[in-house]
Amino acid sequence: MSDTLLSFEESLEKFDPAMGLEVHVELNTNTKMFCGCPAVFGGEPNTQTCPTCLGLPGAMPAVNAKAVESAMRIGLALNCEIAEWCRFARKNYFYPDMPKNFQTSQYDEPIAFDGYLDVEIPARSGEGTETFRVDIERAHMEEDTGKSLHVGGATGRIQGADHSLVDYNRAGIPLIEIVTKPIMGSREKAPEIAKAYVAQLRELIVALGVSDARMDQGSIRADVNLSLAPAGSGGLGTRTETKNVNSLRSVERAVRYEMQRHAAILDEGGSILQETRHWQEDSGVTLSGRPKSDADDYRYFPEPDLVPVAPSREWVEELRGTLPELPREKRARLQKEWGFSDLEMRDTVGAGALGLVEETIGAGASPQAARKWWLSDMARRANEKGVDVADLGVAPTDVARVQELVDEGRINDKLARQVFDGLLAGEGTPDEIVAARGLEIVSDDGALGAAVDKAIEANPDVADKIRDGKVAAAGALIGAVMKEMRGQADAGRVRELILERLS
Ligand code: ZN
Ligand code: MN
Repeated sequence: MSDTLLSFEESLEKFDPAMGLEVHVELNTNTKMFCGCPAVFGGEPNTQTCPTCLGLPGAMPAVNAKAVESAMRIGLALNCEIAEWCRFARKNYFYPDMPKNFQTSQYDEPIAFDGYLDVEIPARSGEGTETFRVDIERAHMEEDTGKSLHVGGATGRIQGADHSLVDYNRAGIPLIEIVTKPIMGSREKAPEIAKAYVAQLRELIVALGVSDARMDQGSIRADVNLSLAPAGSGGLGTRTETKNVNSLRSVERAVRYEMQRHAAILDEGGSILQETRHWQEDSGVTLSGRPKSDADDYRYFPEPDLVPVAPSREWVEELRGTLPELPREKRARLQKEWGFSDLEMRDTVGAGALGLVEETIGAGASPQAARKWWLSDMARRANEKGVDVADLGVAPTDVARVQELVDEGRINDKLARQVFDGLLAGEGTPDEIVAARGLEIVSDDGALGAAVDKAIEANPDVADKIRDGKVAAAGALIGAVMKEMRGQADAGRVRELILERLS
């Protein structure tokens, strides 16, 4: 059964959206949060476990100091206060991939609280950017769950599966959960702000070097809370929480979808069920999950097996000194270095291509060439495939190499596009693709001369004009030669040959 949706415009006429974003970041520490098991991605199932992360009787946890340090650096970068004293708490629930039957998390005493992130979005005036401040409620430490694998069904989901297997390698990997305060006043920009917040939070995490920050591998996962209230009321409606939205594009789409779905229900006089929902990447809809529990239902209580965390003020200040250049400052610096206009910079950031462009320039391409490829060809191809440009599978070094081949005159822009086709098809490196597909531009006079003679013969009237001194007419003959040689002729040399023959 598909949901009824109100148009985006009409939902805004009648309602104001409020959002709450919860982002889980998997830290890249060597070991897990409360034991010495390796915390690396992708090992054979259940090879990275011990009595502590399996919740066996008598096992005692100990806090990973590196994870506490990363948590504090994230908190400081988000302009948060750092707790002088805080504790872990048990969040009790049954979940098959959590062997302890509780998650060790933080409850009313998070390590970091009361911060903000200034998010840059395209200005409503249409020119330049504007800043939207997202207030941060808290950033707290917790551990990840294991993973269930549902076997035998067509979709890999629990529905239709014969049986399920559990992999506890991920159980106990350190997580930082970053929770915003309700984001109000975003209006028609709500989907865009949600996406920009997650994108810019991700940039910050990358700059801090505390996580792989790979949304496609789940090392950053966003949950999107959304509610609507009657337009202008200033209130908060009943919210839904859409879980594990794992691409930037999906964050934007999920917000837009839930706004339109809520609006349709409320507009008919219905009420919203407080529940979790699951984003469906393929169909672009959310599906009902479970009724959302209130915090009380988890029966939180302080973790008795762990000592409180009380970071000294000296340690906090020392960590403050390790904060990198913040992404916003970095963007301003790069824009100046690259000579990009506000619009060029905005489009680059908006396409999620800033890091890619930066790496491409770092690999030797000019800023304008790097921007051109990522924002035209790559952005279009990513859009066609429905993925973020960063997940396209084309490396910045490859783009830089393609541009180098253009600069060397060995291919032109048109042929470069065929090299990108080859890269996406997994045909090898740019050089291998040029060789295998025979894309190199021909500048050998023998082959070019034959094509030039053929073009002159086929276009006697054009040839006469050139003989009469109308050199501009050479363009038509160059075009004919290019066509004959499938775009692979050296256009400059072709022109010279034509003029030589007809002068
Ligand atoms: Zn362990
Ligand atoms: Mn959590």
